[in-house]
Amino acid sequence: MSYVVTQSCCADASCVVACPVNCIHPTPGEPGFAEAEMLYIDPASCVGCGACTTACPVGAILPTSALSPGQEPFRLLNAEYYDTFELPDRTPLALVPTQRRLARPGPFRVAIVGAGPAGLYTADELLKHPEIERVDVYDRLLTPYGLVRHGVAPDHAATKKVTRLFEAIERDPRFGYVLGIEIGRDLTVAELRERYHAVVFAVGATTDRRLDIPGEQLPGSLSATDVVRWYNGHPDLAGLEVPLDSERAVVIGNGNVALDVARILTLPPAALTATDMAPAPLEALRRSQVREVVVIGRRGPAEAAFTMPELIGLAGLDDIDVRVDLAPESITGNDQRSRLVRELATRAPRPDRRRIVLRFAASPVEVLGGDRVSGVRLVENRLVTDADGVLRAEPTTTTSDLDAGLVIRSIGHRGLRVAGLPWDEKSGTVPHRRGRVEAGAYVVGWIKRGPTGSIGTNKSCAQETVASILDDLDRGVPALVEGDAADLVRSRQREVVGLAEWRRLDREELARGMAVDRPRLKITDVAEQRRVAAAPTTRLQRARTPRPATLIAT
Ligand code: NAP
Repeated sequence: MSYVVTQSCCADASCVVACPVNCIHPTPGEPGFAEAEMLYIDPASCVGCGACTTACPVGAILPTSALSPGQEPFRLLNAEYYDTFELPDRTPLALVPTQRRLARPGPFRVAIVGAGPAGLYTADELLKHPEIERVDVYDRLLTPYGLVRHGVAPDHAATKKVTRLFEAIERDPRFGYVLGIEIGRDLTVAELRERYHAVVFAVGATTDRRLDIPGEQLPGSLSATDVVRWYNGHPDLAGLEVPLDSERAVVIGNGNVALDVARILTLPPAALTATDMAPAPLEALRRSQVREVVVIGRRGPAEAAFTMPELIGLAGLDDIDVRVDLAPESITGNDQRSRLVRELATRAPRPDRRRIVLRFAASPVEVLGGDRVSGVRLVENRLVTDADGVLRAEPTTTTSDLDAGLVIRSIGHRGLRVAGLPWDEKSGTVPHRRGRVEAGAYVVGWIKRGPTGSIGTNKSCAQETVASILDDLDRGVPALVEGDAADLVRSRQREVVGLAEWRRLDREELARGMAVDRPRLKITDVAEQRRVAAAPTTRLQRARTPRPATLIAT
């Protein structure tokens, strides 16, 4: 029996280190690792020991015997990777990587700004070093986990299992949260830097890119960034107006976020109820009139940014009628992606289900409507190869209008300038060298490398940044101002939410969910979050809270 990596692969490569026969690739350091859509197990050399399944933080690795029909394509996807993969050396990797010791004894204190995956993987890497006395993770929200809580699609429960890894990191007594504190508002960057030997910015890419076309500002024209936060219960987006009273919605863009949004708008209410979607959007989606979501890519299926694991996952859904708006004979390739797109283009329609239509080679030129969105004007594109050999979309003169009551642009995220740090306007990132902005200030995650990659990409990204921090600590560190950062924080915001308070809030959400047969009922109102976090947990609540039986090793 061999094992197969499936859709929820987070690519943090924990499995790679666990594998005794080095059969999972690409590994960190191998060509293609940074861009990999997922990792792949070589069926020819897998010995079926299952060590990788224990190491995987999201349960993405399954024995071939346990694959569902919808997951079967992953068997071929894993195997085909090795058709072209050349591995010069199949020696097993060291089971436990050698641990660097610092030349200076410490103790050192590090602050991380941002409690999302990039911040928490960084905390994990730092806490491997005994010289680090304290890691404080700051976030402006009262809840940690960033995009895992407010970005990952609610129906992707497996991906959210990475929170078990985060819980294991939180258990280190040197780890602390400082939640509900905004750096730049409650505390300045300078104040923070005076109190920690290193400050790591893991603030993500929190805004969206714009189409810059007429009508984009109309009610009913929204960014995917906002819509995703709305259905995931982000407190800032609780009041977002998402018009769901028309039969058709349009999503512009061809990335994984576009597929997430299209799926959430078309899944039947029963499927959404089984998720941790926030209560108010769930109610709105239950009443939704949307029957069809058209996803529009400006280039062709071969150039689309969505990944194979996500396309396979979508194609395998029984609940949704997935269609491709292309003549099958025009899709000529014989790679897995072309074969799957061709299969979707020839599928018999299932009119009893809500539909997702993937349309290619078109761009919006105007969002139509008077006092609200009524549709979108599209221009057909042809693909031309530019001087760098890249296929680009070039508009033709053929336009057409598509009726829709909701237009969502899903064309990528953008970082926001961090006060006190240098800024590269073009990429929307902080310029850095291997994560170092300057001695004492570092970046990790999307604010460092731009809005690409999976959750697990942050592990190797964090390793690089932490190596730079350790280099600087070894070189010598500035004297810190007297007094703990905690005193300063409390002088600005008396009700700071730490780990104990977050656990209370977490337990209450789980308990409320359990009471109505849902995985979690998110509390989205900040005042209520604060109240619940401050209230002592009752024994009854503790007893009612489901916890994972086993913990994932870090
Ligand atoms: P993305 O992967 O960068 O995709 C952006 C899409 O927008 C591309 O198709 C791009 O087309 C298109 N686009 C850009 N400007 C456009 C314009 N002016 N008009 C029309 N189309 C335009 O961004 P994303 O979907 O936001 O995802 C961000 C990252 O998160 C990605 O790495 C993604 O894989 C990851 N993610 C992963 C998952 C998952 O694993 N399940 C889920 C969500 C997100 P061109 O290619 O032509 O530029």
